[in-house]
Amino acid sequence: MNRPYNFSAGPAAIPEEVLERAAAEMLDWHGSGMGVMEMSHRGKEFIAIYEQAEADLRELLAVPSHFRILFMQGGGLAENAIVPLNLSRAATVDFVVTGAWSAKSRKEAQKYAAEVHTAASSEDTGFTALPDPATWSLSRGASYVHLCSNETIHGIEFQELPDLAALGSDAPLVIDFSSHVASRPVDWSRVGLAFGGAQKNLGPAGLTLVVVREDLLGHALPACPSAFDYKTVADNHSMFNTPPTWGIYMAGLTFQWLKRQREGDVTGVAAMEIRNRAKAQRFYDYVDGSQLYLNKVAPNARSRMNIPFFLRDESRNDAFLSGAREHGLLQVKGHKSVGGMRASLYNAMPMAGVEALIAYMQEFEQRHA
Ligand SMILES: *Cc1c(COP(=O)(O)O)cnc(C)c1O
Repeated sequence: MNRPYNFSAGPAAIPEEVLERAAAEMLDWHGSGMGVMEMSHRGKEFIAIYEQAEADLRELLAVPSHFRILFMQGGGLAENAIVPLNLSRAATVDFVVTGAWSAKSRKEAQKYAAEVHTAASSEDTGFTALPDPATWSLSRGASYVHLCSNETIHGIEFQELPDLAALGSDAPLVIDFSSHVASRPVDWSRVGLAFGGAQKNLGPAGLTLVVVREDLLGHALPACPSAFDYKTVADNHSMFNTPPTWGIYMAGLTFQWLKRQREGDVTGVAAMEIRNRAKAQRFYDYVDGSQLYLNKVAPNARSRMNIPFFLRDESRNDAFLSGAREHGLLQVKGHKSVGGMRASLYNAMPMAGVEALIAYMQEFEQRHA
């Protein structure tokens, strides 16, 4: 079967091998006589799936032993409330605002934190750049500092996480890594908590991943729902309530797929980083060199995962998009708040998909030159 290339920002393409495996196991997982969706989360079959998924993720992301991995529900948006409910200690929280997602997180935190301080913002650039960490005004004694390490809508990515200690803050760093998790390694020495929905790079919607340093557990505000108290979730191995079993299974298959990926002598997430760099470089080089297309993000802030681009003549957007669909290039439309187009190049997108999109863009450019 020749499937089209799917450039959706999320829910997004899943590796074909993962979908095939899930289809093959749909009615009967490993001779158990049950599909995964039909299993008790406390039965030995599902416990095996869960433990394998957790161990594989820990290995893939090199999560240190003093961090806990939580499989939750609620998505990135729920985490915008769950993080301050757990970590704010009714004190000031600092926000670095670099696009729509961090702005949304800041707004939600205002409901729970005693004070929300904007330590830096690139709103004045229309979210086309990252504020230099040397200019951030971090609060003394903040309970945490929040940033979105990949802004899915504006196409902005931190190339390197800030070293808060070197910037004079002893607060833990919270990152929303929803849209680039597992696309590159994470420097856990700079992170207190990372969260992300699965539907961009790990599997289906409905599973939310939280990786949290152990010393941050056990400080929830009294109003925090028990099912969202990280300590309760951690103490119960993500089974305080029924976890998103299907999502954990699908993410687990994706982790096994990731472990099989190889570039030269590296595997897993390091191999994905090499591929993702190459895919993004190829696409940006093409856009920058063309007369018809445009990306507005500062080169040192450009996302490898989500690339917004525009036609210099926007009256041709609809023609571009319908032609793309005809060429088997799906979901290239930009987010409504930004307009234009967006190519999301997650792990499941092969270089061949990027080449197919560029070939179509060249053809469209020639037709409209
Ligand atoms: C998609 C996304 C979210 C929202 O996730 P939901 O699952 O819809 O709650 C949050 N943050 C980022 C960076 C995202 O890309």
